Parts: sequence; structure tokens; C-alpha cells
Amino acid sequence: MNNVRNFCIIAHIDHGKSTLSDRLLEFTGTVNKRDMKAQLLDTMDLERERGITIKLQPVRMDYTLGGTPYILNLIDTPGHVDFTYEVSRSLAACEGAVLLVDATQGVQAQTIANLYLALDQGLTIIPVINKIDLAGAEIEKTKEEIVRITGCKKEEIIEVSGKTGQGVLELLQVVIDRVPAPKIEDKKPLRALIFDSNYDEYRGVVAYIRVVDGRLVPGMKVKMLGTGRISEVLETGYFKPKMQKSNNLETGEIGYVVTGVKNISKLRVGDTIAENNTDAKALPGYKNVRPMVYAGIFPKDGSNYAELREAMDKLKLSDASLDFEPERSEALGVGFRVGFLGLLHLEIITERIKREFDIDLMVTAPSVAYEVHKTNGEKIIIKSPQELPDPSQRAEVLEPWVKADIVTPKEFMGNIMQLVATRQGEYKNTEYIGDENLGGRVILHYEMPLASVVTDFYDKLKSTSSGYASLNYELAGQREAEIDRLDILVAESPVEALSTIVYRDTAYVDARRVVDKLKDVLPRQMFEVKIQAILNYRIEMKGGGKIIASNRIPPMKKDVTAKLYGGDVTRKRKLLEKQKKGKRKMKEMGVGRVDIPPEAFTAILKKD
Ligand code: GDP
Ligand code: MG
Repeated sequence: MNNVRNFCIIAHIDHGKSTLSDRLLEFTGTVNKRDMKAQLLDTMDLERERGITIKLQPVRMDYTLGGTPYILNLIDTPGHVDFTYEVSRSLAACEGAVLLVDATQGVQAQTIANLYLALDQGLTIIPVINKIDLAGAEIEKTKEEIVRITGCKKEEIIEVSGKTGQGVLELLQVVIDRVPAPKIEDKKPLRALIFDSNYDEYRGVVAYIRVVDGRLVPGMKVKMLGTGRISEVLETGYFKPKMQKSNNLETGEIGYVVTGVKNISKLRVGDTIAENNTDAKALPGYKNVRPMVYAGIFPKDGSNYAELREAMDKLKLSDASLDFEPERSEALGVGFRVGFLGLLHLEIITERIKREFDIDLMVTAPSVAYEVHKTNGEKIIIKSPQELPDPSQRAEVLEPWVKADIVTPKEFMGNIMQLVATRQGEYKNTEYIGDENLGGRVILHYEMPLASVVTDFYDKLKSTSSGYASLNYELAGQREAEIDRLDILVAESPVEALSTIVYRDTAYVDARRVVDKLKDVLPRQMFEVKIQAILNYRIEMKGGGKIIASNRIPPMKKDVTAKLYGGDVTRKRKLLEKQKKGKRKMKEMGVGRVDIPPEAFTAILKKD
């Protein structure tokens, strides 16, 4: 079977991957014109609302060219840096990648990052320029850049418009010509790579697979080589793009398999499905992906813990990067410490828990993981500010660093250099992409603390470059860090969820910023609310530490004497006296507790 082609579309965010996928679906007749809608493969509500792709999405297209029927398996991928893991898993299921570049934007940070991922996996690259219909399209300049980064010939670059469909037929021809057909070796026992999965209420886990050797037929007994789980194949099928049953899945094909596995820990993305009782060896699978930031997630209503656990388990199935462990906090109860690939990922996951599972959450301020060497020789990894040992017990603390690549027009280099300097970044070197005479865009290579990148760095980078600069980063080692824990007391009681880890150098500035911000976002109460920032507060002692900034929110003024006319001073005083007592009583009864609105958490992360 030499007529299968497996390819994915990779690009920087918004360069038009999902729109080009629409045209491919249309031109191959996979979706009827009347069922067509923009970015059809973005099926999640969240994806459609935000106009971004979060999950990889496979689709099988039948297409006849020159009388020969072909099966084209396409995987649309996300472009945002937080979802790179989705891209690398897609690449492993394909032989080719369409590298799409927006003709008005040129090569951007994730264009390069995703290209390298594809090259690492030995994929054939098809360079494509998109949005050639736009007046601002700079086709020649973009071609230069593509040639520079891929080393391809200019003539190899295909010009398309995902919007008008121009060039799409040619692209289909090129995919068939250039993407190698899957290798088929006869009589090899079944091996299939699980590159994604989903949970279906009725059928249990649905595994998205690429058959590497052999064939998969319903009724077969199969074994997950990694987890050892043995089960029966209940159904196989394709994505058209909706799931459609098939008689089997052959070597080289992409599709899904239902095995009736309900216990989701038994089916792991990256695992190999083999026929039971054969000597098939596991495929390389995937490297474990490492979270960038951690945050505590707690149900607002403690009785929802079991539901939250179930929600996390199910989300893990459609998001293999999700990493979590139970966490107990005195103030917030039981919940999870969750590892995320970035703040967008955090936002998406918490939003999905609220929407898809209807659980209200408390989310703590995100933090990177630190390696702490204690004075007693012990070495621990801490993932929350609460775990940071007292300064007297710390010998050394290491924090994660990243390699950060920033693509920008030359005129913004100065601004960006300045910005990075305020975030402890270390300049490495500059590379030119494209012809210097043609506008001169550059890649600036830096090394920076991860903690500096994951907060609001990206927003700042965008505003300092009028939106033109783009960023990609990846973990690159650890370095020593001088850090402390900053706790926030509101109305004299610590708000655990607002604790953060700060650099010792900037602790005072951070503390000032946070208390001032909180003053603006916390609701006024009937009593005066003190806000204090304390360095190295001893939670277990409910004391210690050093107050380094404070502020106060004046009480709401309810004029209890307003209804009194005339000058009855004694009655007026009596009423005021009564009000004062009432307020004191409220405080004593614990009514003085201040509910922290969610804006407070995001507010303290922004480093304005
Ligand atoms: P993705 O993030 O790479 O999947 O990009 P999308 O497919 O979601 O497209 C991003 C935006 O670019 C959307 O507003 C599309 O309508 C627009 N777009 C995509 N392709 C074209 C094109 O060829 N021409 C024009 N004019 N707009 C396009
Ligand atoms: Mg998309």
C-alpha cells in the first residue's frame, strides 16, 4: 500500500494552519461545502472562542490524483509555545510536515522552533507561504527567510492562500509527490504508537494511533507494552474528521482504537500497542515532558475534591502533558499541585475544569520548581512557595533557566535588549534571517531565568516591539538563585494562595507592588483592612519574618446618622458607638475574613 501520505501542518500561531486545513478538507471533498465552517478542526468551545488551536487534530482525506486514489492523513497542530508537546507528538506520527509561513509576518519564533522539531524527527519539510491574497503580503522577502532557515531552494516553496484556496490543489500534488509513503515491511508483528487519546463516556478511552507495523483488527488481543495492560480491540476507525468505524487499520495508517480500557492509567500516550504474545519491541515513544510552572488547584467547595480528582484524570487523557499530585493546605484544604507548560496552559486547564466539569476553583500563584540544597545535606525539589525551607536551613537554591529566542525586526533590538536586562537575561548572540537589505530581521539568543519568562514577559515583549517580536524558549539547565518567600497577610491572616517566591534583590519592589495592587483589587469591608507583605514568615509559628511593605483599605462608610435631622448630638454619638461595636464584633466573630477575588491573583503576577 503505497498510496498513504501522513503529514502535519506546523507554523507559528495565527499563520493559518487551521484555515489551510479547512481548504484541504474542502478540496478533497472530506467535508461538504454546506458543513464547512471556519477552522473546522478547532472543535473545542474554547478553541473556537479564542480562535486558537490547543489540541492536535488528525483527519483522513481520500483524494484521487491522476486516476490513483490516495489516503492523506493530515494533523493540524497548535502554534503557541505552551503546546509544543502537541506538535512533537504529531510529528512522530508523520513522514512529512508542511511548514507554513504567513506572507505578512515572515518567519517567527515558533516557525523556527517547530521546523527544528520536524528536522530532528527526520521529516520531509514542505515550505509553504500562506496569505498571498493579502495586500501586505511580502512574498519575496518571506521566501528569502524560508530559504535561509530551511536551506531549501526558492522554487520549492509553494504559494497558497488558505482563505481563497489559491495554490491548494498544487499543494495536494506536492504532498503526494514529496512526502514519502510509510515504510511497509511484510510480516512484521503489530506495533502502533499512541500519539493522543480521549475519553468517551460510553466507550472508555479512545486511543489515537499510528500503525507502524502490522495491522490492527477488531477482535484482536493486544497488549500495551509500557503498562502491561492486555485487552481486546473493540473497534478501529478513522477521523473523517468525525470518528468513523473501519474494518481494520493497516500499516502506515492513522486512526483510532477502542479497547474498552476504562482505567485511564492503563493507557498512556507514547505507549506502544502490540499484539499479545508476540516479541514486538516498544517504539521509542516520547520523552516525558517537563512542566514549566506549578500552581495549586483547590475546589472552592472542599466536598468537590473527588470530582476534581476525576476531572483531572479525564483531562489528562486529552492532555498528556498534565502533571499533578495531591496537595493539602491548611488554608485551602485538599487539592492538587499541578504542573503546567506555561500560563496559557494553566488558564486553559482551569477554564476547562470550570466549564466541562462545573467545579469552582481556587488557584494559587504559579511558581517554577526550585532545587534546594539544605544545610543538613538533603536535596529537595520545591514546587510551591510553602515548601521553601526557612533561610537558616538553605545552603543553596538552584532555579531553572531557559534558552530564549526572540525574532524581531532590527529597529526594536534596543528596546528588547533593555527589557531582557531588567529580567536578568544574558545576551548570547544575534543571527540574521533573510537578507539584511530586505528589512533585516534578526533572532536574538538569550539565556534567562524561567521565572522571568513565564510571568508577563511575553506581553511586555509584544508591547515593546509594537507586536512584531515573537518568542520561543526551552529549558536549559539550572543556576544558583537568591530567593525568599513573600507572604501576604490580609486583615492579619496569611493568604496562602498569594504567597510567591521572589528574588532577594527585588523583594522590596515586588512587595510594594503587590500590596498596592491588592489595595485596588480587594473589596472594601465594614472594617479597615490591613495588607502586609512579609518576607520569610514562619507559617508554622504564625509569626516571625519581616514586614517589608504594607497598605490599608479604609472601611466602607455607611452613614448611620444620615436619617437624623437636627442636632441631637447624644443620639448621634450613641449610634456611632453602636456601629463601632458592631464592627469590632464582626471582626471577633471572624466575619472580618476577606474573600480574595480571582483578579487579585493575576494582579500580583504582572510586574508593572
Ligand atoms: P493557526 O493559528 O495557524 O491555525 O491560524 P488560523 O487558521 O486560525 O488563522 C489565523 C487567522 O488568519 C484567521 O483570522 C484566518 O482567517 C486568517 N487567515 C488564515 N489564512 C489566511 C489567508 O490565506 N488569507 C487571509 N487573508 N487570511 C487568512
Ligand atoms: Mg490553528
